[in-house]
Amino acid sequence: KKKCRSIHISDDDPGIPTDLLSIPLHYRDDIENVLIPYGLILDRTEALATDIFNDCGNEPLICLCVLKGGYKFFADLTERIQNRNRTNGHKSLPMMLDFIRLKSYHNDKSVGEVQIIGGDDMSQIKGKNVLIVEDIIDTGKTMVKLLTLLEKFKPKSVRVCSLLVKRTPHSNGYEPDYAGFSIPEKFVVGYALDLNEHFRDLEHICVFKPTSLGKYSV
Ligand code: 5GP
Repeated sequence: KKKCRSIHISDDDPGIPTDLLSIPLHYRDDIENVLIPYGLILDRTEALATDIFNDCGNEPLICLCVLKGGYKFFADLTERIQNRNRTNGHKSLPMMLDFIRLKSYHNDKSVGEVQIIGGDDMSQIKGKNVLIVEDIIDTGKTMVKLLTLLEKFKPKSVRVCSLLVKRTPHSNGYEPDYAGFSIPEKFVVGYALDLNEHFRDLEHICVFKPTSLGKYSV
């Protein structure tokens, strides 16, 4: 597998002070700084769309959005692949879009497992090229489990595009085929990434202020 490159955001990156960008009033006191401004997310997404377009042949690609955190990235990424399809006269990549949610559960042996809920009948991916679009890979456990589940349906190929990859000692070593940004081990919110369903309505990817945790606990 080709080593995947991404924009590296270093551990000591101070981010952008919240008062220098527009942040919704209701979140202003709860974020440390803006780690990745919305504009940069979109610029990187455009480049990823180009990479995916160039790497794929003309065979249909089944794009799987992992909800809810992946919905913004999925919408922006597929829109940019569509732009390539519209403007490139020599080649186009037909896409089929599907949406899944993952439910983590613990069986009686208390081994974390994941279950696919929602989405179409997964048996239709048989013999097809699949692109999984995810918001963030942290330990990599979720992705490895999802890939194991999908393999049972005998797709022709499965590739993964994750907007963020966290650098963490807890990683199981899994690396996606496409990644937007490599980020420090901090809890980030915004651009559909949530904390107990809050912060999805924030454009930029921001570092959450741990002292605000009580306010968003359930
Ligand atoms: P993994 O199985 O790779 O450890 O976890 C992946 C999942 O954990 C992601 O899909 C996401 O739901 C959640 N997650 C991990 N890190 C973060 C983070 O910094 N912010 C948010 N909002 N979710 C995270």
